Amino acid sequence: MGVLVDTWSLGKAYATTVTTVEPRPDLAELDRPALEAALEARGHKRFHARQIFRWIYKHGVTEIDAMTDLSRELRATLTSDFALTRPTLAQRETSVDGTEKFLLRLADGRHIESVFIPDTPAMTFCVSTQVGCAMACAFCLTGKMGLVRNLTAGEIVGQVRVLADALNLRTKKFNIVLMGMGEPLHNYDETMRALRMLADEHGFDMSARRITLSTVGLLPALERLATEDVMPNLAISLHAPTDLQRGELVPINKKYGVRDIIDACKRFPLSRRSRITFEYVLLAGANDSPQDARKLAKLVGGVKCKVNLIPLNAAPGIPFERPSDEVIDRFAKIVADSGVTVSVRKSRGRDIRAACGQLIVEGQKPSAGQQLAVVAFGG
Ligand code: SF4
Repeated sequence: MGVLVDTWSLGKAYATTVTTVEPRPDLAELDRPALEAALEARGHKRFHARQIFRWIYKHGVTEIDAMTDLSRELRATLTSDFALTRPTLAQRETSVDGTEKFLLRLADGRHIESVFIPDTPAMTFCVSTQVGCAMACAFCLTGKMGLVRNLTAGEIVGQVRVLADALNLRTKKFNIVLMGMGEPLHNYDETMRALRMLADEHGFDMSARRITLSTVGLLPALERLATEDVMPNLAISLHAPTDLQRGELVPINKKYGVRDIIDACKRFPLSRRSRITFEYVLLAGANDSPQDARKLAKLVGGVKCKVNLIPLNAAPGIPFERPSDEVIDRFAKIVADSGVTVSVRKSRGRDIRAACGQLIVEGQKPSAGQQLAVVAFGG
């Protein structure tokens, strides 16, 4: 593309043409309908999109030239017309309990973290949807950095591509939780495009039942999610039973209150076997009293749900402490005795700071214009 620029020099006008090169479309950023359209626009057959999807997502290739059931000529044309990128693995740490933390570098130099939780049979990838987060939850380190930028669909799926290869799990079944850095519904379009790419039968072919989306409850986006054809499991980051308490912990509650969120959950279409998970980070002295437990049980009682209690993983910069085991047990018992299914999340990867609320890219100073990822899982 040429851009005509007028310049002035020594009082004299010059017209000069500055050539800018359009970046090649990235195959990893295209869902299959978009890839079919892009191929057709360049005079290729649409069905090649299915082959390309199989190579990228089923076989994990990172070079167009490795797609050996495409003709040599087609591979050469595709290589000049398209890029094929994915995040690069910058660092990998393994906890004594088997949890693994992956630091991934994006094309613009920013970093995100993804976590592998190896509990069998449900091996789980925890992935991010944004660099930073605008929600500013009081117990979350990611919230402290604000939103740096949204991830693209290709970067969200790219985390799965990298982890599947690093862990040799590409042909195995695994779960995905969108509980990493960021609020998925605040990056709605790219998150949903990523879910459609993950569900593609010629790619990872992930059942939506294996994917859980965790949100603070952005109501308009939640209503929109209720109409989608790809419907992940839903987890609501509740964390407090009243507007007064929740407003202190999750600032967006001042806009979308507890009652409205519960009403939206009651309307949310659930399949016969599924139910909504309410995530509740237990913070000593802030939301862990017996009264809080009773209020919580009453609040969610009318929803087809389970409650997941997450004792805080205390970390520098988080102004809360983890409750004692006795307080955690007492809270769980009150909720369970009220007839609500409740579980207490086991903490994983604390020794490598991969546990909920602990992920942080340490020891690196952001350069001008580049903010490094501070990741805290909470969602
Ligand atoms: S807990 Fe989740 S929504 Fe809240 S600031 Fe952290 S990443 Fe964002």
